Amino acid sequence: MSITVVGSLAYDRVKTPFGERERMLGGAATHFALAASFFEEVNVVGPVGDDFGSGDLEVLATRGTRIDDVERVEGGQTFFWHGEYGWDLNSRETLATELGVFAEFEPKLSDRSREADVLFLANIQPDLQRAVREQCAGARFSALDSMNLWIDTARDSLVGVIQRVDCLILNDAELRQLTEKPNLLSAAREVLSWGPRVVVAKQGEYGAALVTAESFFALPAYPLETVVDPTGAGDTFAGGFLGYVARRLSDGVDDSVLRQAMAYGTALASFNVEDFGTERMVGLSAEEIEARVAELRGFTHFEEASLAIE
Ligand code: AMP
Repeated sequence: MSITVVGSLAYDRVKTPFGERERMLGGAATHFALAASFFEEVNVVGPVGDDFGSGDLEVLATRGTRIDDVERVEGGQTFFWHGEYGWDLNSRETLATELGVFAEFEPKLSDRSREADVLFLANIQPDLQRAVREQCAGARFSALDSMNLWIDTARDSLVGVIQRVDCLILNDAELRQLTEKPNLLSAAREVLSWGPRVVVAKQGEYGAALVTAESFFALPAYPLETVVDPTGAGDTFAGGFLGYVARRLSDGVDDSVLRQAMAYGTALASFNVEDFGTERMVGLSAEEIEARVAELRGFTHFEEASLAIE
């Protein structure tokens, strides 16, 4: 099974209480691919400027990710994002977003990207997400992420493309903002009424919740004493989640597969935040991931209990 992702390929300037990086490889599609490539072949779709280094292309191609649909625009600037985190890493301020080559991007997918079984529309302008969704009409499972910027500036387009995917993966505050419902469960139910059959609410260091018409499931984040840089945690989660879904696609994406996918997303995101940018994910091993998934299972399991009231 193969996966196609469209989303930002970026240079990030990031400051956290543990240090800063002036210009490191980032972008939603980059973080997603570094996680999803553990499971199945990933095709990355998106433009970069001629300032994009060949070493960074090699990082993108880690574990066989296909970069044929990464378009290099002569004279263009790669997407740039500048953010700063508060002392407990729970708050983040965006200081600059420069769309660069994304402003004029018109996605034209190769047959290989078009024919992917699983599609991830990572956080980017919703009209671009829509254009890619239409080209990947045969995808058997499609998911979308977005953010407050697009809810504020392009809500109608965003709702239009959400109606065309199987799964919405969004931060919980943004889910409430999008639906104008203050309660997480009601917000998720509202989105389910628009068309998707799965909603995943990302809750930062508190983990993630999964809502479908029939069920609810939640996992805490993997507990870590040292979090260095949370940038890309959400996209890495999505890469683990959809990577696992792609791996199990022929069995059918039922509740049990979705819960396991939550565990892989959670485990992968926990590695991403241990270092700046892509630094931890490049050399990660499958054994390390499996060990954390097993630990998570232990952390969240409890025996049947009762108050034994007569
Ligand atoms: P996350 O921490 O999961 O929200 O993802 C952070 C990544 O998203 C960074 O590497 C940024 O380059 C990228 N990013 C930030 N803002 C935007 C935006 N408006 N559109 C697309 N990508 C963005």
